[in-house]
Amino acid sequence: AATRSKSYNITLLPGDGIGPEVISVAKNALQLVASLEGIEFKFQEMPMGGAALDLTGVPLPEETLSAAKDSDAVLLGAIGGYKWDNNEKHLKPETGLLQLRAGLKVFANLRPATVLPQLVDASTLKKEVAEGVDLMVVRELTGGIYFGKPRGFSTNENGEEIGFNTEVYATYEIDRIARVAFETARKRHGKLCSVDKANVLEASMLWRKRVTEIASEYPDVELSHMYVDNAAMQLVRNPKQFDTIVTNNIFGDILSDEASMITGSIGMLASASLGASGPGLFEPIHGSAPDIAGQDKANPLATVLSAAMLLKYGLGEEKAAQRIEAAVLDTLDRGYRTGDIYSAGLKLVGCKKMGEEVLKSIDGKV
Ligand code: ATP
Ligand code: MG
Repeated sequence: AATRSKSYNITLLPGDGIGPEVISVAKNALQLVASLEGIEFKFQEMPMGGAALDLTGVPLPEETLSAAKDSDAVLLGAIGGYKWDNNEKHLKPETGLLQLRAGLKVFANLRPATVLPQLVDASTLKKEVAEGVDLMVVRELTGGIYFGKPRGFSTNENGEEIGFNTEVYATYEIDRIARVAFETARKRHGKLCSVDKANVLEASMLWRKRVTEIASEYPDVELSHMYVDNAAMQLVRNPKQFDTIVTNNIFGDILSDEASMITGSIGMLASASLGASGPGLFEPIHGSAPDIAGQDKANPLATVLSAAMLLKYGLGEEKAAQRIEAAVLDTLDRGYRTGDIYSAGLKLVGCKKMGEEVLKSIDGKV
């Protein structure tokens, strides 16, 4: 039988600031890897964030959301900028991102923190501690204390003002994030550490019970549990012990930022947000960097690596993903650096040139 090439619809949301510059590089990388792997991509570029506000008056136009929902995966650049800060008339660009996440029903946020051998000096930790770190934080994104009820302001028995929030997790919320985490660990090095505060919090007690229960579906993954205070400490003491970490919304918020600081390279860090079905959302963790926007200075590699996550976790195209990851390492090996990761003696290049070098590495033409 003739092998028909697989075809995917990808929605590109370049957004604001350096977003369009880095998305353009990632798009070229996807296109090239597709031609080498017998995949076909149909790209649709839609307005989002400040760009959409200027164009339509809202940060997430209906057409953008419906295009995103109808596609196989969504690749986002960055949102926001000085121009729309103090925006009283309209919604802020960032609201569009929250609406997009809600619209796509993504509940699992995956953030890898890898200390690449070429960039080990960028780490905030000592070389011998940082070397070889390769971990992934899987954060629950739609539940927990940020959304739990009751919440609000009130007064206590002394008439003093109080503010209160509630940590709530239902079984189905824990089970589905646990499954994403076990699947992720399976695609990585087979180790999962579940982080909670089960010695104090009931929501964490249920969390630990459910994660332990779900573990029986994944006998090939080695599960451990850790209290969050210890995890925060271990992340800077000995981050190499971690492969995949799964945790709730608030602990994940904190631990994923802590983990990213270990690498010290904001321009290199990718992320994925996944739901039960439907397209995943892939984006660099950095913002729109208005200070360097339009100057061809942005590091496109965080977005290129987000495109690799799109292939791996969004489409299951592992080989294509590996090609992109290998190309990023090869480009760094050949000494190319944007300003944010530059050190003396290496080749300082802009966003476009970095993109061209990544393409050469994908193609093997070096
Ligand atoms: P946001 O709130 O949208 O996350 P932010 O204010 O936290 O934005 P960023 O926009 O991520 O911050 O920028 C923080 C700093 O890092 C800026 O100096 C910016 O120039 C730099 N930076 C961010 N991303 C990149 C990149 N891809 N390449 C080079 N420098 C970057
Ligand atoms: Mg920020």
